[in-house]
Amino acid sequence: MSLPRASSATRGSEETQGARGERGALVNMELLGLPNIGNTCFLNAILQCLLVLPSFLKKILHQEQLWSSSPFSNLLRCLSDVYRSSLPDSGANQASKADLMWKVKYSLSGYDLKYLGDTQQDAHELLVNMLCQLKEEGMILKTLGVSYTCPVSQLEFQLVSVRTCTSCGRESSTREDYNHLSLDFSPERTLQSSLALTFKGEKVEFKCEGCKGLHATKVELFHTLPLVLVLHLKRFGGPGGLEKLEAPLLFPSELRLSTLCGDMVPHLHSASPQALTNLAPQHPGVHPPDPHQPSLQPSWRGQRQHPLLFRFK
Ligand SMILES: [Zn+2]
Repeated sequence: MSLPRASSATRGSEETQGARGERGALVNMELLGLPNIGNTCFLNAILQCLLVLPSFLKKILHQEQLWSSSPFSNLLRCLSDVYRSSLPDSGANQASKADLMWKVKYSLSGYDLKYLGDTQQDAHELLVNMLCQLKEEGMILKTLGVSYTCPVSQLEFQLVSVRTCTSCGRESSTREDYNHLSLDFSPERTLQSSLALTFKGEKVEFKCEGCKGLHATKVELFHTLPLVLVLHLKRFGGPGGLEKLEAPLLFPSELRLSTLCGDMVPHLHSASPQALTNLAPQHPGVHPPDPHQPSLQPSWRGQRQHPLLFRFK
């Protein structure tokens, strides 16, 4: 978790008690951040990742009147409460935040009971489950006749898979929906090479309706783009793929996807398909990112299970 660091001039007595915020006011650092209530780093990390996405958060907060009308909007309620508790003037303390974290765990247990326990869980799996739960809460609202837009739609995109018969060149394609992309970890240890490896074409078995051929090359491309692209790095290799790859991943401040986009990629959410800007996590409420001025942050090198989030410029 990144907290604001005191300047060298104010370090010392304020080291554990406070730091100067952006406006010079003394911020009690003990009141910032989310408490770990027992092996919950996977949960804290995902909550922070989601709640620092301005558009995602805005979609939740601006529709509060809509979703709060449903008793089933448990996770939406938790996310907005966690965000508000992290604001410097929230009045929340570590005890009230710990209670809130228990509420989040309880809410997640409706999806999977293992989240009630105190064992460590996988952050990526949790993210996928949370997105599913948010989608379900949105679908309940739809059945209640509420005109509500699920924030998860900002993360959704389609990949088109094109198979080309190696004998006659006949093409067939299918599309699939995603809300995150799992990447292979390339030996070059860069994001671009990992993307290239993931999207590398492969030879597959294929029943051609034209020439009855049995093989095809398969290539995947973006068919639509999300507002926020969530990347999950598969850090496993070695014999049997059981070894954890601890090496850092290098990634640029701006990611160009044009070579991975099909010809027909529409401009979703007013975004350009050409470039993504890195938006590393910050503490919500301390340095709220300006949606019009995406900030370039230090890389997340060293993060392991946590997804990487990129946002369009
Ligand atoms: Zn063929």
